Amino acid sequence: MTLYSGLLLGSSLVLLLLALFASQQRQHSVAGWFAWLMSAAAIYCFGYAMELASSNSQAVHLWLHVQYLGIAFIPAFILLTSLSYQRQAAPPTWLVTLLLGMGTLTLALQWSNDLHHLFYHAQHERWRDGNAISQLTFGPWYYVHLIVTNMALLISCILFFRVWCAAERYYRTPSLIILIGAMAPWMCYLLYLFELSPQGIDLSPFGFIITGPLFAWGLFRYRFINLLPIAREQVLDGLKDMVLDNRQRIVDFNARARMIFPQLSHHAMGRRLDDLSPLLSPTLLSRHETPPLLALGQPARWFEAHPHPLQNRWQQDIGMTLLLQDVTERYQLQQQLKQFAEIDALTGLLNRRMILQHLALWLQATPVRPLSVLLFDIDNFKQLNDSRGHLVGDEMLAALAPALHAHLPQQAWFGRYGGDEFLILLPELNESAALAVANQLNHISQPLLAISLSIGVAQWHPALSQNELLHCADQALYLAKQQGRAQAAAFSWLENQPCTTLVKSSAVEINGRMESELLLNS
Ligand code: GH3
Ligand code: MG
Repeated sequence: MTLYSGLLLGSSLVLLLLALFASQQRQHSVAGWFAWLMSAAAIYCFGYAMELASSNSQAVHLWLHVQYLGIAFIPAFILLTSLSYQRQAAPPTWLVTLLLGMGTLTLALQWSNDLHHLFYHAQHERWRDGNAISQLTFGPWYYVHLIVTNMALLISCILFFRVWCAAERYYRTPSLIILIGAMAPWMCYLLYLFELSPQGIDLSPFGFIITGPLFAWGLFRYRFINLLPIAREQVLDGLKDMVLDNRQRIVDFNARARMIFPQLSHHAMGRRLDDLSPLLSPTLLSRHETPPLLALGQPARWFEAHPHPLQNRWQQDIGMTLLLQDVTERYQLQQQLKQFAEIDALTGLLNRRMILQHLALWLQATPVRPLSVLLFDIDNFKQLNDSRGHLVGDEMLAALAPALHAHLPQQAWFGRYGGDEFLILLPELNESAALAVANQLNHISQPLLAISLSIGVAQWHPALSQNELLHCADQALYLAKQQGRAQAAAFSWLENQPCTTLVKSSAVEINGRMESELLLNS
């Protein structure tokens, strides 16, 4: 055992340990290919150590064969390591097959050289300072192997160099370390090729002793390769909950999708999305300007659906990713704000702004259909406030709204116009039908809450503006008050003379006794 072979044996052990360590870090394809590279280099070092220590030709030949178990595949493994490092993804299968195929062919030709001499024309040994040195006359395939090896080393150096150039500040140091590591065996190999190595010893295996630890440090110390795939997976998972094919069948889903749809399991793969919820229909997921909002799950929560089409390189739709963003809290807050902006807090009716908006929208959307409005005001409400207190007045207003609402036609809109004044929109009703509804309201409010209403009725006519219509109703209300309250009055439309003719003034039987009793009671 000489110094060189002892050094190489030690090196092969270190490389083997690095291979074992790298094989444990399997989250990234770089680690896998690096483990293979280190294994091949360990075999190379071990075989070369044994070759140097050999005492006869047969042993030299045998250990040379052993070395080629590693050497033949080193170009493939170094190229695959550098490529997966640079691309941050597994290399394509065709390339892996091609490179490993080349390695296998080289190994086969080296092992069977005695039959064809394609690898070495001649092979002699000499011993110098106790080391067995092979004297080889190279055959054609050796040159092919030489070119392939140099090309592989050159390309991997270029790839590592490109990573180093493009690296962010934090990754510059590991990228440089890896680049130096990649260059080391190549430099040693070139020294050997140009016969600059001491005693004609092949220095490349010594180069791997530099490569191995530098690569391992650069790759694993900075958590570059084992952090990135996890980060990528998690970031990607955060961007999509489901993957669907172009017929909306489930191809993949993440843990969050399972929380929304507990029935999702691997048996659900290939099932249509609308099997999970009819809400998730294909039309819903076709392109919308604003993401559709749906209530999903038990108990229901609100989700915004964000579909994102997936296209192949010919821009054909091949499926989509679907992100379901839970917006329950935002939605509830929006609903609350909407409620504050649209609903009168005391009565729960539409507020003045909203009832007027509904009227405007109706007139805009269906300008030829009949519509009547009722504008009513509680009679002597001030007195009630004064005698029984404002709080009782409030309670009266709050109780009146639902009591009357229950007796309105389904399509009616009911809003608080202001104070003790209310506005009701009665689509599809002409003035006489509206007047009947108005009388009905007085019939309800008097026995129920001991209050009477004065109601102005007006039917809309296409020649009337919204304000003119409301003015007519107001005039009719005024008339109802004038005529003794607790009644409804309606105006009809005459050409160019809006709200001039009182068609009906329908006094509801005024229960004067009741009113005075109410006042006396307070
Ligand atoms: P009229 O028959 O002429 O309508 O007599 P009125 O006493 O009802 O007089 P008017 O409609 O002009 O006055 C409305 C009163 O309604 C004045 C105010 O005290 C009372 N009011 C307005 N808004 C509220 C409210 O939110 N709560 C209570 N309790 N009272 C209100
Ligand atoms: Mg009043």
